[in-house]
Amino acid sequence: MKKKVILFLFLVLTIHNIKAMTFELFKLPYATDALAPVISQQTIELHHGKHLLAYVTNLNNLIKGTKFENSTLEEIVINSDGPIFNNAGQVWNHEIYFATFSAKGGGEPTGALAEAIKASYGSFEDFKKEFSAASVSLFGSGWAWLVQDKAGKLSITKESNAGNPLKSGMTALLGFDVWEHSYYVDYQNRRADHINALWSIIDWKIVESRYSK
Ligand code: MN
Repeated sequence: MKKKVILFLFLVLTIHNIKAMTFELFKLPYATDALAPVISQQTIELHHGKHLLAYVTNLNNLIKGTKFENSTLEEIVINSDGPIFNNAGQVWNHEIYFATFSAKGGGEPTGALAEAIKASYGSFEDFKKEFSAASVSLFGSGWAWLVQDKAGKLSITKESNAGNPLKSGMTALLGFDVWEHSYYVDYQNRRADHINALWSIIDWKIVESRYSK
């Protein structure tokens, strides 16, 4: 009798483990009101709790019964297109985005990343200007990225919709979400003001950790 119970438990656990992968909502490393007034609690609750959650839910539903059912998020972003890519891309992008901020953020990067920015853009201020301009001038919904290519070179890219550096084989160091849902409640049409304020909540230690010499 005991043996049968153990066998039953073993089977239940095995079936549970081979069940398709489901993605979960990224857990914020800060309270929802921690980034205010740069990003209000209401915006965080909508952006993370509603928009990002919807991408996660859509992705889980869309991959059911497809070849992506047991893939990692990175594998899906790289190999998918259409609605699966749009949702997977947005899940990946927002994890980078939300992880970048801290209530104690701001200032400038240090060490190797600071040197690389200086070598590519002249100064941190010039880099900031160029990155802000890319964010403000991006037409419609999308992302501005600071990326590192395989040779180590930094560049600023603009991507529409769910576009990201992972898809093009580059490393994402910093990403600004310029979809209206990221700022409209707090800044309405003033995207430039929102972008300008974001610099004060960037945790450069996190950004530096994504950079490899
Ligand atoms: Mn967003």
